[in-house]
Amino acid sequence: MLQKTCPRCGKSSSDVAFIAAFCKDCYLQRQPLYELPELELDRCVKCGRMRLKGFWRDEKQLPDYLREKIKSNHVIKSIAAKLHVDPDSKLAHADVRITVQAEGQTVALDDRLDFRFIKTQCPDCALMSGGYHEAIIQLRGNPERVERLLPKLLRRLEARTFISKVVEHKEGPDIQVGKKRPALEVLSQLKLEFETSNKLVGEHQNKRVYRTTACVRLE
Ligand SMILES: [Zn+2]
Ligand SMILES: [Zn+2]
Repeated sequence: MLQKTCPRCGKSSSDVAFIAAFCKDCYLQRQPLYELPELELDRCVKCGRMRLKGFWRDEKQLPDYLREKIKSNHVIKSIAAKLHVDPDSKLAHADVRITVQAEGQTVALDDRLDFRFIKTQCPDCALMSGGYHEAIIQLRGNPERVERLLPKLLRRLEARTFISKVVEHKEGPDIQVGKKRPALEVLSQLKLEFETSNKLVGEHQNKRVYRTTACVRLE
């Protein structure tokens, strides 16, 4: 490739990266490729998820969100972000790598995006800390099988909803599960047979609230 010399600083394209006729630094000083947003986001102090466009999302969803928030006259090809949070501070930042198509070439830029967090609790964590649970899964029967199943079941349940508490009885554990539907779905996925019963536990906004108990018997 033909060697270029930056008309502004005199650096050579054999030493530094160029964008069009200028070295990268000089080009970006004259004409930034994008503009980073000023962000203030709700962040849950318990689970660390952030409210992005109305939904509670984890860090993995941050790049998609940033793609909509970063202003650029060029095509943004990709965004990667690594979040750095100090639990004692409202301020955080992300190391971002933004890849832009500009002047017929692909330019990757490392940058720092500062955030301001509003510390709050997401609805799931608020419910969980209140001991809320719509379902109880009882594991009964063969103690060895119960012991083997419990950690696996908890992992699956936590991926779908939350566990308020596990209460050990001498007949076996009672798992207090936040949401009923995922609780029953996880049992079905694991091909476990269970019997359900419903109990009226109160009223909420003029609707009766039932708690479902699912009893799994392991032979
Ligand atoms: Zn230059
Ligand atoms: Zn949370």
